[in-house]
Amino acid sequence: MFLQKTIRNRVQVQGIGLHSGKPCTLSFVPAPAGTGVSFVRADLPGRPSLKVAAGNVAATGYATTLGGPAFSVATVEHCLSALSALRIDNLVIELDGPEIPITDGSARDFLAGLQKVGLVEQDQPRKYFLITQPVHFAEGDKQASIFPYQGLRVTVTVDFPHPTIGKQKMDLDINEQSFGRELANARTFGFLKDVEALQSRGLALGGSLENAIVLDDKGVVNPGGLRWPDEFVRHKTLDALGDLVTLGYPLMGHLVLYKAGHDLMNKFVRQLLQSEDCYRLVELGADLSEEARLRNAGWA
Ligand SMILES: [Zn+2]
Repeated sequence: MFLQKTIRNRVQVQGIGLHSGKPCTLSFVPAPAGTGVSFVRADLPGRPSLKVAAGNVAATGYATTLGGPAFSVATVEHCLSALSALRIDNLVIELDGPEIPITDGSARDFLAGLQKVGLVEQDQPRKYFLITQPVHFAEGDKQASIFPYQGLRVTVTVDFPHPTIGKQKMDLDINEQSFGRELANARTFGFLKDVEALQSRGLALGGSLENAIVLDDKGVVNPGGLRWPDEFVRHKTLDALGDLVTLGYPLMGHLVLYKAGHDLMNKFVRQLLQSEDCYRLVELGADLSEEARLRNAGWA
């Protein structure tokens, strides 16, 4: 049977804060079985913590912000996306200030840090969020659906009225290898006119061509160009995996998104949690042959 996992040792990721532009450090810290994933502000009195859960999502403009009584933390989705891919059940993400390092705008450094220390099995069985019936959610032309599937698969379509982006589609079975190869290095992106408006309000002061793809009306401003022609949909897929951690359990299902952002994802995850006739929380790998089959499919 599959056991819950955390990381073997504590590991740090350093960078600057997107909004403050100041140096900040994040530490991934092993956590006991059954405790889930939470953020801790190590610099505040009493070290307050905030559980990663759909009900704790406080804002979804530009990025996913988790909020609680003691603090809030923005742009959680990039560091969380690696947790979906690695199936990490229990983890404390410690911060030394209000912001998560933006790093290069992708999940690359977070994945590398977690892989460097490696994972360890714990003494409690893992419960999977197994989809048994399709669930759909739509708002305007934005859509999210989920279907039963033996594994975790994500199909994402974006459609931006911009000559460099247009319509792009990504369809991927998610595991550590596919995430590292196809998604982890895909950077966040923004439009020059929005960046200028944010910076005039004292926001995104750490934002630069070092940590985002920036687009003007004609194309990509970054001198180095893109890492893939479809880096945009790859990043949106990474974002969706980060938002999936708010479900509280590793998902076994096929998620299909059309023009979905953080707001739609949060509404969808909340609806999914309430659709009790459409999912079951199950322990998998009850016998050795099932365990071998699922391990081969990337479910260990
Ligand atoms: Zn993002």
